Amino acid sequence: MLIDSHVHVFPKSFEESRNDLIKKDSTFREMYTNTKSTLSTSENLLHSMDVNNIDFSIITSIGWENYEIAKEANNYLLNSAKKHSDRLGAFVGINPNWGDLAIEEIKRCIDQGAIGIGEMHPDTQKFKLDDSKLLSPLMNLAKKNNLIILIHSSEPLGRKYPGKGKVEPKKILAFSKLFPENKIIAAHWGGGLPFYYLLKELKSSPPKLYFDTAATNLLYSKEIFEIIINIIGSDNILFGSDFPLVKQEKIITLVKDSKISKIAKSKLLGENAKQLLKISKI
Ligand SMILES: [Zn+2]
Repeated sequence: MLIDSHVHVFPKSFEESRNDLIKKDSTFREMYTNTKSTLSTSENLLHSMDVNNIDFSIITSIGWENYEIAKEANNYLLNSAKKHSDRLGAFVGINPNWGDLAIEEIKRCIDQGAIGIGEMHPDTQKFKLDDSKLLSPLMNLAKKNNLIILIHSSEPLGRKYPGKGKVEPKKILAFSKLFPENKIIAAHWGGGLPFYYLLKELKSSPPKLYFDTAATNLLYSKEIFEIIINIIGSDNILFGSDFPLVKQEKIITLVKDSKISKIAKSKLLGENAKQLLKISKI
């Protein structure tokens, strides 16, 4: 069983309106000003899933700043997931700074079948992960409706690249402590947070977090799989590619070729996501 928990798709029209979107939305501008960052539709994704025998993918939004664009993108994600309910699930784009409109949009998306919120980009959406007053209504609604939260995360060290921000391990850790009852996935290995589970205080009371492997090949050397599993175990790690930025097969190959156990491989590649996301269709 293969489940990719982190891919991005957009309406086909967004390719034509790309320059306009760059002007209007700060997150899109950060991620897609570089013309090498391609946009993909659900159909492109389904083709890639067929080729790679992937059973199910979570189509995620980006952390839109702009309400109108986010709504249009959300509709596309929700319709795609409805049309291919046996193969796709949708995480929608919400900006907490929209206030009441954010709550209204989450409720609308829940009615339309959303199973998560994200990928959130606090830097470009301009909110702070420790702003409990701003985030509590959203997080409470997510908890009540079993919506998973996906947060873009960045390494405190290393090279600069589009999207690299300041949502680093320290902030992810504080966020998980502020909302311990929410189910949170920290993307891109949480910016390296699992390495800090070697600290005595984290080892004895680990945060309630999941980590995905999105864009691993662009960020880390391949030993990361066995090293992090040695530290935190294999129950909380999900295979995510970051398609179309990274080809789905790239990460599958990294997992399959890694020195982790057969059981850990099947947990990462699908079982953990199936359980967390309550995917009953496969
Ligand atoms: Zn990301």
